[in-house]
Amino acid sequence: MSAAPLPNRVNIRKAVTRSARYSGSLGAEQLPQFAELLDPRAPLINVTVEFGEDEEGQQFAAVEMQGSVVLECQRCLQPVVCELTPDSRLGIVPDDEQAKQLSAGLEPLIAVDEVDLWEVAEEELALALPVVAYHPQGECEPPKSDRPSRSDNEELGSTDKASENPFSVLSSLLESNDTKEK
Ligand SMILES: [Zn+2]
Repeated sequence: MSAAPLPNRVNIRKAVTRSARYSGSLGAEQLPQFAELLDPRAPLINVTVEFGEDEEGQQFAAVEMQGSVVLECQRCLQPVVCELTPDSRLGIVPDDEQAKQLSAGLEPLIAVDEVDLWEVAEEELALALPVVAYHPQGECEPPKSDRPSRSDNEELGSTDKASENPFSVLSSLLESNDTKEK
């Protein structure tokens, strides 16, 4: 099925009447909230939006997205790449009052006349972000302070030592316990 490229703003009535389907990739420019989180190796998020009207006459926009963001692993504090694949059906309503009357399975998209697809994509991506991110069990990186490179440290002297985290030894002990349990 062919799809038009993902525009910024679309006219709701026209899009619904034509059952328009838009598809495209958005990057940091279109998703400013995610500029810092996008994976530098795959900095684009694929977005497909399909408009239509269901049996009850409710206008909707079905949004499917796929892309990666880089978050901080809450176990080792190193970057972890998370794939996000939000997939939702939004009921297009003009105000909060009508939003309350949407049938289950439809999230409200409050818009009159026009809808900003980049904004919708950004919102859906934000909702899909995990509250906490972790590497898969056993794949965390060992703390960096565990393997100091000698030549670098000798020059810096004691200031570097002072900044070493006293808990890093403890956390590496805990981590080795984790692997033994497996
Ligand atoms: Zn980790």
